[in-house]
Amino acid sequence: MTGGTPAARFTADDYRARMARAVRSAADAGLAGLLVAPGPDLVWLTGYAPSADTERLTLLVLAPGRRPVLVVPALEAPDAEKAAGAPALTLRDWTDGQDPYAATAALLDGSGRLGVSDNTWALHLLGLQRALPGTSYAALTEALPLLRAVKDPAELELMAAAGAAADAAFEEIRTVRFAGRRESDVAADLDALLRRFGHSRVDFTIVASGPNGANPHHEAGDRVIRVGDMIVLDFGGLKDGYGSDTSRTVHVGAPTEEERRVHDLVREAQEAGFRAVRPGAACQDVDRAARAVIDGGGYGPYFIHRTGHGIGVTTHEPPYMIEGEEQPLLPGMCFSVEPGVYLPGRFGVRIEDIVTVTEDGGRRLNDTTREMVVVE
Ligand code: ZN
Ligand code: ZN
Ligand code: ZN
Repeated sequence: MTGGTPAARFTADDYRARMARAVRSAADAGLAGLLVAPGPDLVWLTGYAPSADTERLTLLVLAPGRRPVLVVPALEAPDAEKAAGAPALTLRDWTDGQDPYAATAALLDGSGRLGVSDNTWALHLLGLQRALPGTSYAALTEALPLLRAVKDPAELELMAAAGAAADAAFEEIRTVRFAGRRESDVAADLDALLRRFGHSRVDFTIVASGPNGANPHHEAGDRVIRVGDMIVLDFGGLKDGYGSDTSRTVHVGAPTEEERRVHDLVREAQEAGFRAVRPGAACQDVDRAARAVIDGGGYGPYFIHRTGHGIGVTTHEPPYMIEGEEQPLLPGMCFSVEPGVYLPGRFGVRIEDIVTVTEDGGRRLNDTTREMVVVE
């Protein structure tokens, strides 16, 4: 994999289609339009990622029946023009001293509810509210949680390549020395491996040894790894703009009978969660399937985490595989299946693959062994 799969190139037509779909979804949700600041939604909709998100307003304005407009500071317009989606939109640049909120207001009807990207600065939203006193706002992730959830074939190819790169990192990390080194040393190895296999950004490199494994969100610290430790490894980031996220639990030296039993249980739970993936099943069905196995093994109270989360141009996003989430699975959705058992003061086990929904089931985008790996 070191040679790397060439990144699928999205064309202006791809971005045009995404923006059109977003406008349709917004209208269906009763929104008068969408306002999208720099961040993952803007990248997904236009291919544009400004080098910095600043106090100068950059905002994509989408409204039914209107051509998409990107409001952009004049000094950044040349960069914005180079974005792959630029031919599908109109650039409206503004210079210091002008009021970008008034310019944005002129692009909208001035009434109704607008979807605004989650990470829009409060400064900008307050400016818009002043310029558009008749409007109200909804966070984009709450209003349109599934905007980016269904991936097209080119996106799935990039998701698969990111998964394969994370798998390649696992195949290397299982050969390094663990005993006698700090968690943070192994985490640094993982970071370097993910980059070596093509990641441009590393979001997390969890190395949770011994009792630290009982905290699902432990990152990596000064603890020196010892023979006899279980170690949860959970790592991922972005490769060619798409996310990876995988967990395997390894053991330093021979595991005890109980450690093996808990690991087997989590492996069976992960398999059951995976087998529950098919179009039309509800997100909560994936959680229930995995949880039933862990409950049956008597470790239910120690599965303290939802079973999974969506992934795409970010490493955590809707939909969530959690009790109460009735959203049906759709072909092209990508999410993690990551049950775990967390025994306070002792150890934890988590096994995580990214899975995509196919026409008749699920396909794993991670495929390193799910058997317990013994490391040195
Ligand atoms: Zn978590
Ligand atoms: Zn993870
Ligand atoms: Zn995850």
